[in-house]
Amino acid sequence: MSSDRVIIFDTSLRDGEQAPGAAMTVPEKLQLAHQLAQLGVDVIEAGFPISSPGQFEAVQRIVAEVEGPTICALARAKKADIDAAGSALEGGSNTRIHTFIATSDIHLESKFADPRYGSTLEEKRETVLSMAIEAVKHARTYTDDVEFSAEDAGRTDTDYLCRIVQAVIDVGATTINIPDTTGYCITDEYADLIRTVIEGVNASDDVIFSTHCHDDLGLAVANSLSGLQAGARQIECTINGIGERAGNASLEEVVMALNVRAPHFGLHTGVNPRLLFPTSKMVSTFTGFKVQPNKAIIGKNAFAHEAGIHQDGVLKNRETYEIMRAEDVGQDPESIRLGRHSGRHGLFSRLERLGIRIEEKDKAEVYAKFVDLADRKKEINDSDLINLFHHEEHTMDTPHYSLEKFHVTVGSGQEPEATVVVRDLQSESVTEQKATGDGPIDALYRAIDHAVDEGHDLVNYSIRSVSEGSDSFGEVSVLIGMGGPLFAGKASSTDVIEASAQAYMNALNSLAAFRLDKESIEFVSSGIMQAFESPKD
Ligand code: MN
Repeated sequence: MSSDRVIIFDTSLRDGEQAPGAAMTVPEKLQLAHQLAQLGVDVIEAGFPISSPGQFEAVQRIVAEVEGPTICALARAKKADIDAAGSALEGGSNTRIHTFIATSDIHLESKFADPRYGSTLEEKRETVLSMAIEAVKHARTYTDDVEFSAEDAGRTDTDYLCRIVQAVIDVGATTINIPDTTGYCITDEYADLIRTVIEGVNASDDVIFSTHCHDDLGLAVANSLSGLQAGARQIECTINGIGERAGNASLEEVVMALNVRAPHFGLHTGVNPRLLFPTSKMVSTFTGFKVQPNKAIIGKNAFAHEAGIHQDGVLKNRETYEIMRAEDVGQDPESIRLGRHSGRHGLFSRLERLGIRIEEKDKAEVYAKFVDLADRKKEINDSDLINLFHHEEHTMDTPHYSLEKFHVTVGSGQEPEATVVVRDLQSESVTEQKATGDGPIDALYRAIDHAVDEGHDLVNYSIRSVSEGSDSFGEVSVLIGMGGPLFAGKASSTDVIEASAQAYMNALNSLAAFRLDKESIEFVSSGIMQAFESPKD
């Protein structure tokens, strides 16, 4: 790879998904991975396989089905983690294991406080150094493409950082990531850090140095770019900047900075900027995180000129107030809204642009669904389309329970009451239950709980409208748990009560399937709980 080519490492599916409430289902992850491949990213970090059966399955399916980018899986510097990553990636043609361990004094003193790691800071550093070496060596038994991250490198002693980086390069690490895990660094410091490491170690030209910046001080993109100027050639980033806490460096901002200021940087990526906006839409739909209107590149107002003097200038010459064009990043100003009179061609070309691929044999059915929605809604926009065509993939192939009927009554001065009829598809028994509650959803969920005997807690319920207007789609996300793994359910409808019922049933079906699957239960009890003994990068 030439020295002016920047590797774009997308971690929307791993670090991005770690954002509280951003959980995506396996089919959503798979669809997003296909879209990221279209977009032209070089590496997709698909998940952290040991952390849950869902993460394991997502990595496995992405490796099997998505062509183009290198598929990467995360692992702590532990044998069990690396084995899980290696087996999730099995059979892939371009795969990478990304292993990490904390190196800063504060992490060493707290995460490795146990005396088995050593009693002094010096001893702990030696233990972590040898754990890193063992991890990279073990990862190399699965693939030649191994990335090592020194977690909290931004606050790590630089001499020690250079020592550990040299040690892992010597045993075969091919990418060295220097994360500013806490988003603490200022741009010149971060550039110095990258430069110090690159100059302080002996590495062949094939070893790539990488940035991984968090946005706690709003500097993630700026730090990533200064890392490039100091010699890094991989940027770890996410669509819409989603991620832990304040998030990661936003992919679209990094790519467009390199693109618009190409003469300044003299660097380029393999990303097709015209797909930035559709990809951003997909991520905000799947995670439920709306993009703020003033967000650079992909915000609704990023190309809107409001002040008269600006409008006048843009009409005379767009370059007066625009450094790039909306259509360059896929925010097409001419984009028309679809309605019931839009033809098949209009619908399918729009879906294609949104990364939704419909097979020839399914087109008639999809068009019928579109017409049906158009009857209920005057105008259909991109968010509606993404919703309409992905949500049924949440429904499982073989659900355990099905909601045959529901009825909810609400009104002033009357306690909300719900009646449900649920069929147990295993035993074919049908149960009718009634309940009252604090509101219509509470009543509905209580009635479903009576009908479905799965002990669990409702961890989170959220509803949001997908587009404008009172006829908008309401999308409901539900998270339920049973003291360990969490199960998500999503559904959308123009009827928010119906969407709430369906989302809850989907989550309950995932839980029921999990309980039936003994293997996953053992997987959880043996491996996963320990996976959370230390926080993730
Ligand atoms: Mn991170």
